[in-house]
Amino acid sequence: MRNTDSSLSSPDLRRRLHRRLLQWYRTNKRSLPWRDVDNPYYVLISEFMAQQTQLARVEEHFPRWIVRFPDISTLAAASRRSLLLAWSGMGYNRRALNLHAAAMRIVEEHGRRIPDDPTVLQSLPGIGRYTAHAVACFGYGKRVPVVDVNVRRVLSRLSRNMNTTETMLDEKEAWILAADLLPPRACYNWSQGLMDLGAGICTARKPRCSQCPLSTVCSSAHRLRTPERKAAPVVRETPRRIYRGRVIELLRRAAGHCSDAERIRCQIFGSTDPADRQKLIGILASLEKDGMVTVYQGKKRISDVAAHSAPLSALRICLVK
Ligand code: SF4
Repeated sequence: MRNTDSSLSSPDLRRRLHRRLLQWYRTNKRSLPWRDVDNPYYVLISEFMAQQTQLARVEEHFPRWIVRFPDISTLAAASRRSLLLAWSGMGYNRRALNLHAAAMRIVEEHGRRIPDDPTVLQSLPGIGRYTAHAVACFGYGKRVPVVDVNVRRVLSRLSRNMNTTETMLDEKEAWILAADLLPPRACYNWSQGLMDLGAGICTARKPRCSQCPLSTVCSSAHRLRTPERKAAPVVRETPRRIYRGRVIELLRRAAGHCSDAERIRCQIFGSTDPADRQKLIGILASLEKDGMVTVYQGKKRISDVAAHSAPLSALRICLVK
């Protein structure tokens, strides 16, 4: 018989829910290099990497990163340039610098120990609510909720009779419910189990309710309709972040510097349109502001490239030291 109690408030129901998910997780969990390793640093790195990058790519990069920067002290002492070089292929390069800034704060202010308190963690650069709770729970076994998009989707469907695959609890409700549903023990396995269930069974568009260990306690089991996909809006202009990424990638391949910004313009825009000069200057100014590149004319550093009128061919661009 299916549950219709939208709040999942019955203690018996909760016990069944916990037991079923934890049993399922024991035999179905994904094997990931940062899992079941008693090392908060591994958790911190994997969570930073996974913020905007697909898991398969994180799995590929993570072991190399750990060999290169095995602990928080090594990371804090590394140059920003070495981090940007090592971050190649991960996208959203600003994360590498945020990670570095967080590592320096951890070394300077927390005696090299990654904090275990989500509030303290959230005061560090690049760490939001999800990452803070993930480090506290997965790195230290703290009994705190962890809500990513998979967990939010699973909890939404479990707790409410959702009619379509597109409806979900709002984020605030999902965090409240996640905190309320935490089992007394095994919070690590519980949250990891919800994530794995959301990634493999209770997926965004094709939930496999007939294979789900929670189908008898789920309010939405076998009821979800998947609306037709709306046509994706036509993207007319390449977003600036793509060009920013291309500039950094080009510098990586050129050993960290390019002595002629005109070459960068040709390579990233693939045209000789003179209007691209201003576009590139804007991109360089934003990268400079974020501390990723420095711009020189000859040996002189230019502090405000946007206000400069030198030809691109006179500008030398370097990855930050
Ligand atoms: S029964 Fe279906 S909707 Fe409910 S959690 Fe499982 S896969 Fe998701």
